[in-house]
Amino acid sequence: MRKKIVAGNWKCNTNLQEGVQLAKKVNELVAKEGADDVVVVLGTPFTHLTKVVETVDTDVIGVSAQNCAAEPKGAFTGEISAEMVKSTGAEYVILGHSERREYFGETSETLNKKLALALENNLTPIYCCGEPLEIREAGTQNDFVKKQMEETVFQLSANDFKKLVIAYEPIWAIGTGKTATSEQAQEIHAFIRSIIAEKFGNEVAQEISILYGGSCKPSNAKELFTNEDVDGGLIGGASLKAEDFLGIINGF
Ligand code: 13P
Repeated sequence: MRKKIVAGNWKCNTNLQEGVQLAKKVNELVAKEGADDVVVVLGTPFTHLTKVVETVDTDVIGVSAQNCAAEPKGAFTGEISAEMVKSTGAEYVILGHSERREYFGETSETLNKKLALALENNLTPIYCCGEPLEIREAGTQNDFVKKQMEETVFQLSANDFKKLVIAYEPIWAIGTGKTATSEQAQEIHAFIRSIIAEKFGNEVAQEISILYGGSCKPSNAKELFTNEDVDGGLIGGASLKAEDFLGIINGF
């Protein structure tokens, strides 16, 4: 049985006090009303990791960074290494988000270094892929996503690849209010699983959780999550309100 996962990506939102309050509220709601079989993850800014780890019940809620450095340590002013992330008690790191690729020039090459360092430090990478609007309109999204994966996560060994969580996030659906339809999500998730099976075998493909991200909210979570190949969500805007986030967690 694959893990069902709902991960919040707070992006560059909340100051430390607001973030701790949000984590506290999510922790309370999940303890009271959260579905037992869903793994909940909070992707917070670096500055919040230690406090959020202290605030939540980490047996129930995992804590994630949203990036890490491509170098292990050294003279890289302003960078936060995978080892530093791990030392806060965080267990996950979001890597390859389209915003990092688009606004911070993240290439497959840097992403591969980050993936390797995350894995070395026993962090679970939440690896993001997904196409821009013009690719979706041209109907070549499968080729696009396949290329993204071939250049990065398909370079890993099967043993390392198994440790990942994959998040499919169509760029045209991120923060736009425009969600992929349930059919569109299922179609590309099934495609992603099929290319994983081709590359690493069916057993690995069946074990790996593939999350959907892009304008996911309580009102559409159920429909998206009932799809066979959609194993949860990576949630931006709606993860900033504890009640909405809980509504998505309980969307299974
Ligand atoms: P929204 O849920 O705000 O569309 O963001 C999705 C996302 O980018 C999560 O990583």
